[in-house]
Amino acid sequence: MTNAGHNSESRNDDAAPGVSRRNFVAAGATAATAAAVLAQSSSNAAAKKHPASRAFWPDGARLAITVSMVVETGADPAPTTKGPDGKTYPNLYAETAAEYATREAIPRMLDMFDRRRIKVTAMMCGQSCERFPALAKEVAQRGHECGAHGSSHSVQFQLSRDAERDFIKTAADQVEKVTGQRPVGYNCRAQLRSPNTLSLEQELGFIYHIDDISRDEPFVIPVNGKPFAVVPYTAHLNDIPFFNNHGVAASFAEDLKLEFDALYAEAEFKRRMMVVTLHDSVARANRVKVFDDFVGYAQRHSGVWFARADALARWALTSPDSIKETKAT
Ligand SMILES: [Zn+2]
Repeated sequence: MTNAGHNSESRNDDAAPGVSRRNFVAAGATAATAAAVLAQSSSNAAAKKHPASRAFWPDGARLAITVSMVVETGADPAPTTKGPDGKTYPNLYAETAAEYATREAIPRMLDMFDRRRIKVTAMMCGQSCERFPALAKEVAQRGHECGAHGSSHSVQFQLSRDAERDFIKTAADQVEKVTGQRPVGYNCRAQLRSPNTLSLEQELGFIYHIDDISRDEPFVIPVNGKPFAVVPYTAHLNDIPFFNNHGVAASFAEDLKLEFDALYAEAEFKRRMMVVTLHDSVARANRVKVFDDFVGYAQRHSGVWFARADALARWALTSPDSIKETKAT
């Protein structure tokens, strides 16, 4: 839930030596067709063809926008506070802040997504799903993607390979058991992964991860010798500053619009994707209103495609046009 460090590397669009890009793609292409990719995006917000742009996305869309809704309430240890005697006590007030996520914030966001007819990707902690099963199930039933954000809301980069495998698998099992969706996308806490994380995700059936901020478009890396998709995260279009009531809703609104305008302009000549991250416990009315207004603004432009991250990952894995890295970063 906090911002990742920067580890971007130089762009390399070439396939590995001796492996043509076409073969590399074919080796890992899933059975998904372009129609299937589109079917996983918001059907009601289907892109209107933009005549001025080249076909960088399916159906002539000009700019893809994907929303990551983080569902992590109930997966942290119970909050505590120090007393004047130096001892540790339960922080019952802080617990009510977490409860806001399920009582107000997530239902408010789900209603807004329905009203705007967009589908998003929920990155969900397994323990959050188990603690609030009705709400987790509703996320899936309303057509949103259910990805995994760890079993508990804990960092995992320090774990042994076996322990991390268990942590990731448990998360996937918990999310699937409650929502009915087997996650195919993964998000580490604080985007912090270990040298084993991607390999384990690939082994466990995930097709993409988001713990990367190196590009404004999805791309493909080799993991365990097979193509694995990266749908980059966003640290700068993220409501994280609103934790503890910091952050200004009006500046979030301005940032969203400025980023959209810049990427939309670039998208006439280049494949572009905009990512927004919304956290469950900070989705107060004014912040959701800001995003609601932004979606309306974006939807008044032609060729804007609100896509779930799994649709973008499948596009990257199946399209000959997606960027292929020669090594995981
Ligand atoms: Zn988190």
